[in-house]
Amino acid sequence: MVDVLVIGGGNAALCAALVAREAGASVLLLEAAPKEWRGGNSIHTRNIRSMHDAPQDVLLEAYPEEEYWQDMLKVTGGLTDETLARFVIRATSNCRGWMQKHGVRFQPSLSGTLNLSRTNAFFMGGGKALVNAYFRSAEQLGVEIRYNSPVDSLEIKDGKFLAAYVGGNRIEARACVLAAGGFESNREWLDEVWGENEYGERPAKNFLIRGTRFNNGVLLRQLLDMGADSVSDALQAHMVAVDARAPLYDGGICTRVDCVSFGIVVNKHAQRFSDEGEDFWPKRYAFWGRLVAHQPNQIGYCIIDSKVLGRFMPPVFPGEKADTLEELADKLGLDRDALLATVAKYNAACKEGTFDHTIMDDCHTEGIEPAKSHWALPINQGPFYGYTLKPGVTFTYLGLKTDETAAVRFQNHASENLFVAGEMMAGNVLGKGYAAGVGMAIGTVFGMVAGAEAAKSALGEEVQEDAAA
Ligand SMILES: Cc1cc2nc3c(=O)[nH]c(=O)nc-3n(C[C@H](O)[C@H](O)[C@H](O)COP(=O)(O)OP(=O)(O)OC[C@H]3O[C@@H](n4cnc5c(N)ncnc54)[C@H](O)[C@@H]3O)c2cc1C
Repeated sequence: MVDVLVIGGGNAALCAALVAREAGASVLLLEAAPKEWRGGNSIHTRNIRSMHDAPQDVLLEAYPEEEYWQDMLKVTGGLTDETLARFVIRATSNCRGWMQKHGVRFQPSLSGTLNLSRTNAFFMGGGKALVNAYFRSAEQLGVEIRYNSPVDSLEIKDGKFLAAYVGGNRIEARACVLAAGGFESNREWLDEVWGENEYGERPAKNFLIRGTRFNNGVLLRQLLDMGADSVSDALQAHMVAVDARAPLYDGGICTRVDCVSFGIVVNKHAQRFSDEGEDFWPKRYAFWGRLVAHQPNQIGYCIIDSKVLGRFMPPVFPGEKADTLEELADKLGLDRDALLATVAKYNAACKEGTFDHTIMDDCHTEGIEPAKSHWALPINQGPFYGYTLKPGVTFTYLGLKTDETAAVRFQNHASENLFVAGEMMAGNVLGKGYAAGVGMAIGTVFGMVAGAEAAKSALGEEVQEDAAA
């Protein structure tokens, strides 16, 4: 019988598998995807948010624990477990050495609206390179990897893991780490949760999935049905406004539209509906998918003018371009008069200030609802550009409740041999909201803990010294 079974093939699963193997456990990793699609949402990532008290290789200045924690508190609106959040934060200050040991390389951030060079360490080659490095290292260390192996059910008795099933194949293990992502790729489940809106529409039918098609939440649902303790709720998710032309799955990072804070966003009636300049983009981008999801037809339109070109990461699809706002309205299918009126009202409300997108500047509006709090420049210099937006689901937050040991809990009792990491438990730290780079922070830290604890559970006293190093 294998010591540790790891279910999933993304960042959290790989961290768990590597640490468990380093601790001396035999490890089998089951990845639902075929080899060419391995790695889950992790292949789309670019960075990890990392605490540091002084400049560290690619990280500038300092990002101390307290500031990181305040950022978490702000974006989650308090829906976070302080103990677990601080546990993750502290561990990000020293996990990069271990990541480098397994082949991950870092690079300084590029410039653009995501001004993250102080807070986030970027992976050279992105998440795909990170995942490839971890798979390579896992193979070298003797982790057995099986692709095309979606686990469809678990056998659990009195909170203890006994076996997992792939089709009719029963696989036993002494301990198990669940790292199979959220349920964001399960469109039926999303539809069930979002239901019908005030316009008689079913919003989830218009959602795009930014990452893998393999995170369908089968095991999450089974565990919840079995009475495992849960966190967050099924409506909470990281949702980004993406280009409406993005594919249904795996559009990844390049379909994100990053010019929201440089312009305005209107709905299909050409009306603004939220403050486009409320906070820095890394703390706001994950709200816009949800904001668009609540608009009629789940559609939005980001409008900018020529002044701001070159200041944001260009999306993969070019926007509609027009010399006049009338022409732009026609190209986007918006009512001309309504768009002109909205832009005129917004322009008139912009107070003159010193524009600086690297700080929370003093360019704001006065006398309109919703306000634009920062970076409010009149939209008056053609050509004008428009991007049609749809909600893009990154990952869902409903997950399994856990503690610093990463154990799955049943009626508040920690399982002795079933552990969880990554998106499947991210809701413990992220009840709602998001700050860029936190997903990989949670997955890396809890993946490592889950791997160490699973090895300990499987091997007892035999566990090797450097287990959780
Ligand atoms: C476009 C995009 C960009 C992102 N950028 C960043 C970023 O820069 N920084 C950041 O911190 N976060 C980012 N995130 C979020 C980040 O991807 C996640 O927080 C993180 O990857 C979660 O890791 P995970 O291992 O839990 O899940 P995943 O990486 O999604 O892995 C889940 C794995 O489980 C497998 N699986 C699912 N069901 C089963 C089953 N039944 N049996 C077996 N295997 C199964 C899947 O195939 C997959 O391999 C981004 C997400 C997306 C979509």
